[in-house]
Amino acid sequence: MDNNEPGNLEDLFAHNRTWAARMERDRPGFFTSLVKQQTPRYMWIGCSDSRVPANQITGLEPGEVFVHRNVANIVVHSDLNALSAIQFAVERLKVQHIMVVGHYGCAGVKAALEGARIGLADNWIRHIQDVRDRHRVLLNSLPEELRADALCELNVTEQVVNVAVSTVMEDAWSRGQSASIHGWAFGVHDGLLQDLGMTINGIKPIDSLYKAAVQRIRYKWSKRAEEPQSDADPAQAEA
Ligand SMILES: [Zn+2]
Repeated sequence: MDNNEPGNLEDLFAHNRTWAARMERDRPGFFTSLVKQQTPRYMWIGCSDSRVPANQITGLEPGEVFVHRNVANIVVHSDLNALSAIQFAVERLKVQHIMVVGHYGCAGVKAALEGARIGLADNWIRHIQDVRDRHRVLLNSLPEELRADALCELNVTEQVVNVAVSTVMEDAWSRGQSASIHGWAFGVHDGLLQDLGMTINGIKPIDSLYKAAVQRIRYKWSKRAEEPQSDADPAQAEA
């Protein structure tokens, strides 16, 4: 097996055969039970970034988490791809928790912050620039090196709201289905997930939850700005 050979995909198939054999050896019948049904309790909406794999980070197996990923974990009101995935997860699979998961050091968020031109993705990332512009005062009050990670959290908060105001969630909650949406951030530098405390379950008003979440982010990052900066990633100091 030569991992260094570009274009040689045989090692992926070899890994796959090893993995499938190991799963079947350790858990006989694992795949036949998967064929019958998937019953995930969770839906993960995350960034496409290769460093943020939903199953591995959460220790979940095939069948346990329904995943939708795109550049910078954005849920656009009219994105039929994301909305269809959310509808399937909520109405068919009856997931109980939807996590919108951003990550520190996100290139999409950085590009949005800096207004950098990448290409077609600029139009996609424009949604994060809207978030940036909405919170310009907060972001400008922070040292430059902290702004991208603060915007990562603000973006997650915003996208949690976007899931919550979708017709899928409104319909689910109005028929009494229990499902919560959570905002998380993942640290590529330490492998740890942070709960941003932005959880919507259809009971409390979204507006007050959103304002409280933004307040927490403002407080957290302004405190962080007062700390002596090391050369480590600022997100690392998370308590
Ligand atoms: Zn990213």
